[in-house]
Amino acid sequence: MSIAENLAQVKARVAAAAKACGRDENDILLIGASKMNDADTVREAIAAGLPACGENRVQELRDKNALGAYEGAELHFIGTLQKNKVKYLVGVVKLIHSVDSVELMQAIDKQAQKLGLVQDILLEINTGAEASKSGFRPDELGTALYEASKLPGIRVRGLMTVPPICVDGTENIPFFQLLKQLFVDNSEKKYDNVYMDFMSMGMSGDFEAAIACGSNMIRVGTAIFGQRHYPAK
Ligand SMILES: *Cc1c(COP(=O)(O)O)cnc(C)c1O
Repeated sequence: MSIAENLAQVKARVAAAAKACGRDENDILLIGASKMNDADTVREAIAAGLPACGENRVQELRDKNALGAYEGAELHFIGTLQKNKVKYLVGVVKLIHSVDSVELMQAIDKQAQKLGLVQDILLEINTGAEASKSGFRPDELGTALYEASKLPGIRVRGLMTVPPICVDGTENIPFFQLLKQLFVDNSEKKYDNVYMDFMSMGMSGDFEAAIACGSNMIRVGTAIFGQRHYPAK
């Protein structure tokens, strides 16, 4: 199947999932997780109507961005981020989804202030309490939001999670529900620089369940671009 056909199928799945829970499909941003797909492939997806791209690796994002790969779409960063690479993203990407420590927030704030802008971010939550995954523990979120309120160069726009790998798309519902709960609880608290607008959750195998739990940003790779081919080690 072509990327255009894949994209049409994904959009139909999003529309059906939204309808099933009485939501408007236009409230859900489809982000193409374009890692390991080259600039031409990304361009093809955008031409076919992909509204946003999310990259995992800073160098890959820089390389493709230099080729103009993302023209016509929003550019987001969704991967693990090291503090020394913040300078390549601040002011370049619309949203950094994967902010997983106070130190990283501070580094983003510093760079944003240097450039005289405000960078939108999401805080990543390790909903599955997995040792191998980054993200704040749910009980650390309050402190993180309080720290964020002291940093005028960032604006927290919501929460993101990457739940454990699942076999069946519904297995992750408890993790999606946990993110939703944190989102709702913290929407009522008032912190400076914190706006609970976005919940980034749901990937190729489970985005219907995520939409049912309130997700309004889904990050979809395989279902749009096809299977990724990791180089042999
Ligand atoms: C690769 C990736 C996705 C998309 O995964 P698929 O299962 O291919 O849809 C979503 N989020 C993050 C953070 C990713 O790295």
